[in-house]
Amino acid sequence: MTYKIVVLPGDGIGPEITQAALDVLEAASSGVFDYELQYEAVGGDGIDQVGDPCPAATIKACSGADAILLGAIGGPKWEEAEKTPEDGLLELRENLGLYANLRPTKVNNSLLDLSPLKKEIAEGTDFMMVRELIGGLYFGRPKYYDDKEAFDTMYYSRENIERIVKTAFDLAASRRKKLTSVDKANVLANSRLWRKIVEEISEDYPEVEVDHLYVDAASMKIITHPTQFDVIVTENLFGDILSDEASVITGSLGMLPSASLSENGPSLYEPIHGSAPDIAGQDKANPMSMIFSVTMMLRMSFEQDALADKIEAACSQVMESGLVTGDLGGRAATSEFVQAVIEAL
Ligand code: ATP
Ligand code: MG
Repeated sequence: MTYKIVVLPGDGIGPEITQAALDVLEAASSGVFDYELQYEAVGGDGIDQVGDPCPAATIKACSGADAILLGAIGGPKWEEAEKTPEDGLLELRENLGLYANLRPTKVNNSLLDLSPLKKEIAEGTDFMMVRELIGGLYFGRPKYYDDKEAFDTMYYSRENIERIVKTAFDLAASRRKKLTSVDKANVLANSRLWRKIVEEISEDYPEVEVDHLYVDAASMKIITHPTQFDVIVTENLFGDILSDEASVITGSLGMLPSASLSENGPSLYEPIHGSAPDIAGQDKANPMSMIFSVTMMLRMSFEQDALADKIEAACSQVMESGLVTGDLGGRAATSEFVQAVIEAL
């Protein structure tokens, strides 16, 4: 079977790290995993090519794909655009129904020096944040603003909470069987419904241990006791804040991937960082975020765990030898790093 992967290289370092990761995939997958690539435009690239950061042709191609890889979008060139690259990305997520954003925070124990946390606290950290992506305060209506007052609406239907919570339970059941639900149920009505639904669904997953944390306590514990977490599930705004906080534990933005899932359609995989216009085109970007996005795709969309393991082992071997890019304190060029990974493979 030949799988179809739609590739959205996007802007800034997006195209460089995408190419790097695809070179690694090609070197590793021969004879094991069969796929074809279809390139489409999104973000600033979409504005430049067809005058739209979320072209209809891109949505159509993505809908028909087995998985989607996205580099990064945005940059100073399009800041004044009527529809910005960021608007385009939100439109794409909404059109594809990408309701769950998964961000792994996994510390590589041989690269502990990169973490801003004390070694003994960071060591062994390995958790997954599951953030609801298309509901809550960001999308709730009414939304209003004038000079005298402003308001947003924190809205979730039971169905939308059940959907994300089930996704998180399934994930926890496949990992270390611990789920932490984060809310603010002592203050927010929405959180009270959230907590009730988590309790209800937990009855279907007796093997998963569940606890509830208020978001303020959770933000503290992620830094003081990161190894206590396995899967964390939370709503859109809380997840936005907590997942950025969690990302610093590993030391570099340039290492971290994410997956966005929909109910029936393809998943989208992308680095958590932006387009890094300050280093674009200089062969300096760390491609690990995109390589990890590819290995996440191999595991989650194609059940190619062995292939993903093989790619990650080759990358670890190269990083442990000290060949790393500037964001990790090294001097390797993107191309040099990728070449070394391909040789290690
Ligand atoms: P966005 O708003 O799209 O998230 P941002 O303003 O947060 O973007 P990023 O593009 O994520 O900014 O970049 C933040 C900093 O991290 C920049 O200095 C950038 O060079 C650096 N950076 C981001 N990704 C990488 C990478 N893959 N390799 C090296 N440095 C990176
Ligand atoms: Mg950012």
